[in-house]
Amino acid sequence: MLKPAKTQPASKRFEFQSLPSRVIFGSGRLQEVGAELERMGIERAAVLSTADQASQAANLAAMIGARTGVIYPGAKMHTPVEVTISALREVEAARADGIVAIGGGSTIGLGKALAYRTDLPQLVIPTTYAGSEMTPILGQTERGVKTTLRSPRVQPETVIYDPDLTVTLPPFISGPSGMNAIAHAVEALYAEDTNPVICLMAEESIRAFGRSLVPVMTDGNDISARGEALYGAWLAGTCLGSVAMSIHHKICHTLGGTFDLPHADIHCLMIAYSAAYNRDAAPEAMSRVARALDADDGPGALYELMLKVASKTSLAAFGLSEADLDKAADLAVQNPYYNPRTVTRDGVRDMLQSAFEGRRP
Ligand code: NAD
Repeated sequence: MLKPAKTQPASKRFEFQSLPSRVIFGSGRLQEVGAELERMGIERAAVLSTADQASQAANLAAMIGARTGVIYPGAKMHTPVEVTISALREVEAARADGIVAIGGGSTIGLGKALAYRTDLPQLVIPTTYAGSEMTPILGQTERGVKTTLRSPRVQPETVIYDPDLTVTLPPFISGPSGMNAIAHAVEALYAEDTNPVICLMAEESIRAFGRSLVPVMTDGNDISARGEALYGAWLAGTCLGSVAMSIHHKICHTLGGTFDLPHADIHCLMIAYSAAYNRDAAPEAMSRVARALDADDGPGALYELMLKVASKTSLAAFGLSEADLDKAADLAVQNPYYNPRTVTRDGVRDMLQSAFEGRRP
């Protein structure tokens, strides 16, 4: 039976803005890609993927036949601008009138970077749980510097979620990718601009992953668990696109950017520690996390889940030193931002020390 979550007084004030996107969800629904392109008026699509997923892009192009304008299987992590420029040349040469991105956040990032520059419509087919397909956010790197922008041009018009495409996602990517999505949902619960609809989606997202993430890693072909995880990813991506993130995303971007650590794995490790940082300052959010994971303590339950799905369970295992923790704490408190508990250098340093040792938060 669900435990009651502590709720705030009914006098709460909020604003809610839904993001415009059409979502098609379910096993086998990739088959509808041609019909969707027709619906969107796309006749010469640029089909994007990473090199690793080139065969998936080729299969998709075969499926849409004459609606393929060009295939570009060159997407790379962190959306390097030089890759975008090279893809843009091919898009223009092919006179493509729309974008089809099949893959994870890296491929979707390339599609968004092209849409930002051309305003072409995007049909996105996610194959990880990162959630970028549901956001108007684009992160790009140029000469090693990452910048992020928000623009309605970047928000994909249509998303097809087909869990069949995720069965090839190996356990070492599935687990951290799911925890990355959970991190969006946890921070949405205590966001400064959160609202009741987003809280419903966030809690349901955490619940869906709580049920599915371990089964997905145990048996990657379990379509029912894969569907549940992808459902959680959709909800978490919507949370990420709708409200502002706090200390967890700041610390992960700092650690990832400064020490070149893998995006999803660092989210996976840190979310329990970030939640613990806010444990006393965000009681309603913590109670929702605990309820979603059928536990008494939200941060503790996130830690337990992380131990089951992460390949590295401490910052020490990522090769960081204690001096690196000092540097990260200094950087993480620059540019003040909203967080339920005041962000102090000492508080962040303590949190990093716990994560360094892999202590239960
Ligand atoms: P990714 O897209 O880099 O994918 C990781 C690897 O897994 C790639 O080699 C990819 O080809 C492969 N892969 C993906 N799906 C697969 C499948 N089903 N089967 C087999 N292999 C598969 O990783 P990601 O974690 O999805 O995305 C990370 C990137 O997305 C980061 O650059 C991050 O900043 C960005 N991101 C952006 C947003 C946003 O809103 N802008 C949100 C989340 C993540």
